[in-house]
Amino acid sequence: MRLESFVRGSWMSPGQELAEVRSAVTSDVVAQVANGGLDMGEVLAYARKVGGPNLRRLTFHQRAELLKRLALYLSERKEQLYKISYQTGTTRSDNFIDVDGGIGTLFVYASKGRRELPNSTFLLDGAVEPLSKGGSFVGQHVVTSMHGVAVHINAFNFPCWGLLEKLAPALLAGMPIVTKPATITSYVAHALVRMIAESGILPEGALQCIVGSTGDLFDHLTCQDVVSFTGSADTAQKLQRHPVIARESVRFIAERDSLNAAILAPDAGPGTPEFDLFVKEVAKEMTVKAGQKCTAIRRAIAPNAHVPAVIEALRERLGKVRIGNPELESVRMGPVVGLGQRRDVLAQVAKLRSEADIVVGDPDNFSVEGADRERGAFIPPLLLHCPDPIRAVNVHSVEAFGPVCTVMGYDGLDEAVALANRGDGSLVASLYTYDPSTAADLTFGVGAFHGRLVLIDRDCAKEQTGHGSPMPHMVHGGPGRAGGGEELGGMRGVHHYMQRTALQGSPGMLSRVTKSWIKGAPVIEKDRHPFRYHFDDLEIGQTFVSKERTISLEDIEHFAEFTGDAFYAHTNEEATKDHPFFPGRVAHGYLLLSFAAGLFVDPDPGPVLANYGLDNLRFLKPVQPSEAVKVRLTTKAKSPRNEQYGEVRWDVEIMTDTGETVATYDLLTMNAVGS
Ligand code: NDP
Repeated sequence: MRLESFVRGSWMSPGQELAEVRSAVTSDVVAQVANGGLDMGEVLAYARKVGGPNLRRLTFHQRAELLKRLALYLSERKEQLYKISYQTGTTRSDNFIDVDGGIGTLFVYASKGRRELPNSTFLLDGAVEPLSKGGSFVGQHVVTSMHGVAVHINAFNFPCWGLLEKLAPALLAGMPIVTKPATITSYVAHALVRMIAESGILPEGALQCIVGSTGDLFDHLTCQDVVSFTGSADTAQKLQRHPVIARESVRFIAERDSLNAAILAPDAGPGTPEFDLFVKEVAKEMTVKAGQKCTAIRRAIAPNAHVPAVIEALRERLGKVRIGNPELESVRMGPVVGLGQRRDVLAQVAKLRSEADIVVGDPDNFSVEGADRERGAFIPPLLLHCPDPIRAVNVHSVEAFGPVCTVMGYDGLDEAVALANRGDGSLVASLYTYDPSTAADLTFGVGAFHGRLVLIDRDCAKEQTGHGSPMPHMVHGGPGRAGGGEELGGMRGVHHYMQRTALQGSPGMLSRVTKSWIKGAPVIEKDRHPFRYHFDDLEIGQTFVSKERTISLEDIEHFAEFTGDAFYAHTNEEATKDHPFFPGRVAHGYLLLSFAAGLFVDPDPGPVLANYGLDNLRFLKPVQPSEAVKVRLTTKAKSPRNEQYGEVRWDVEIMTDTGETVATYDLLTMNAVGS
């Protein structure tokens, strides 16, 4: 099968120079990849001219809807992807991580996009900042989609997840994507992109895929493009040093080598649930995807006293792992991705052996089921023990990207922290302890050197998602050796594809530009109460000011009695003497909110369907008995939801009769569309 690239809306493979891609299991040729022949300047131009505008005209909610439809479409076809993936050496459960993990990421971004982003094309970031004494000049940060291309360069180990976990946040941000899969597993990514293209779900130009070399693509990058790379440190550095990256300040997100650690704490000795969890996790990370995970545990750090028990327990577990043809149900671990990768792993193991001994596994003597041990890229799980990890260098710097892990002992938590941090920046570390103070010492000892920490103990044992699984909600990336980049992390990942701009001007102008009313901007007063207006007819800035209500001591006492909230500040004059905030008995904050609703609500049935929450509530001034309050209610922002209703955000200010602000908050209602 000659693989084609998907560029400018068509499948093509003009290159003359063909490279063969071989099965990890049999070494037979499974695909051919042609390098060269594509005009990379045109590829990027097409994304900028067609894909970008097509995506940017959609709102975040519409883009989230595309992700959901895509996830559903791919879910129905995932068996096809499993089938193709076996040739990369992965078992069914490995494929579940790659294929279902990728689809799951689409689902999470679809749902988060709808829940956490507005139904518009830009974001407001943070609060309005007053920048002048008179209030006529304010600041507000806005975040808009970049006008370039998201160039995604992926590693071989996750042809589906890697493509989709990068695609979801970029697409939600409104950026078109050019994805470049690693050649050795490109036939899987190719099948995935074919499915996506056939679905017709994404707008034209939103996704292009380059199979084979990227040629001179980097020469055509501009300041509006983002490169997100996963792979080796060598390639990352080479690409980061490209003159265009520096000249154009192209954003470059890197996720590369990482010598992740699992730390067994002193309290978690043999016989404790945490010891068993540690052993299980280390064995799992060595064997899932034959250890070819950027997050796999490369260093198992245990108290010196527990090292023999750790090695013994791992020997027993790893001894049960059946290696062979990944399509067989009995097989737990397949080969690494190819014979070249096997050579690399064994060469890296040789470097580790200058400081560590193999204590489990023999690369020259192991059995393989349903496959030829020499033609397939098989390696058994190899556990090493480093007797002097403080002085060792390679065990902290050489990444053997296969089923390989080194056990190292420590004395005292400080030493455990020092060893973990010798990785010089890692994607993840997992900590196994049931002692909160040990957990805190380890967390704050190693935190700055890690992108993610997983605290695994008996309480979360059944549900914890694992040391090696990046979750779409949480950041994935790490400092130093791990590349210094960050992906995923919910909406954080979306912001990597957007530009934050500090906007300064008058409240009136900024309100109109951002379609969000700012205090100090002109208000619109109409004859009818704003609750009488349907979603479409309500104008931003439309205001209602209530009549006043005097708060009496009886009101406060009644509220205390009625609700049971008899907190001393509302009921006991004596107890408020010398109080830092209260000049005497004061009204409950919740009483003020309730009275505010009583003052601003227009009670008759109408377009306001429901009140569904308050945001940003602040009580700013206590109210004493016999003081009067009134409320200003202003339409702050509107966000359409569907054909029936939309969300209205109201700016609410409770004031005293002399105009002092008592409380502020955003009220959220759902309003019917149309009359
Ligand atoms: P590479 O760095 O060689 O390749 C990663 C990606 O970069 C591939 O898509 C590759 O494409 C592409 N690439 C390579 N050179 C260029 C270039 N000049 N311009 C544009 N793209 C380029 O890593 P591998 O995937 O081959 O893995 C090698 C090693 O990297 C592993 O053994 C492991 O040690 C480490 N690795 C670490 C990961 C981590 O996150 N910790 C993840 C994966 C790998 P092509 O395949 O066509 O060369």
